[in-house]
Amino acid sequence: MALKTILTAPDPRLKKKAKAVESVDADVRQLMDDMLETMYAAPGIGLAAPQIDVLKRVIVLDIDREDVKTGPIFMANPEIIEASDEDATYEEGCLSLPEHYSDVVRPASVKVRCLDRDDKKQEMVCEGLLSTCVQHEIDHLDGILFVDHISALKRNMILRKLLKARKEQERDEADGKPASDKKKESAAAI
Ligand SMILES: [Zn+2]
Repeated sequence: MALKTILTAPDPRLKKKAKAVESVDADVRQLMDDMLETMYAAPGIGLAAPQIDVLKRVIVLDIDREDVKTGPIFMANPEIIEASDEDATYEEGCLSLPEHYSDVVRPASVKVRCLDRDDKKQEMVCEGLLSTCVQHEIDHLDGILFVDHISALKRNMILRKLLKARKEQERDEADGKPASDKKKESAAAI
């Protein structure tokens, strides 16, 4: 397994649409394992392949909360085949938008069809935080970030701050300053 670099917004590669995999073969399994390791190291509870610059429709998840414990979940070509009329609001974060959070409204439960790590067709009903995470990750496969669900004003503010943080980091690196360890523990990033 190998740790991959997670792209951060604003990055045009995060806005691209990923392609379906033909089957879950050894290469896709390797990708899934690398993604899971990268997600755990971040740390996060979900990761989509485009976040590590691979335009394949592959996502991984592992939610370990008091109310939801899923263990590792691997999905290739996930699609939502049913969504509840009822909505739920969660404060979402994202490994590609570090340290920014916002409430996002999505269907409270969804039924997802996908291929699992053994290339078997699966259908799964996802509720609560798992429903939010699956929808958030499938969005990544279509080049959509959680900030695309919020007001343009708030989205632009977050993207501007991320750009500023990146420029400061690049300047510090050029000056030979050690990277500041500002990373703080916070809500789960997906
Ligand atoms: Zn995300």
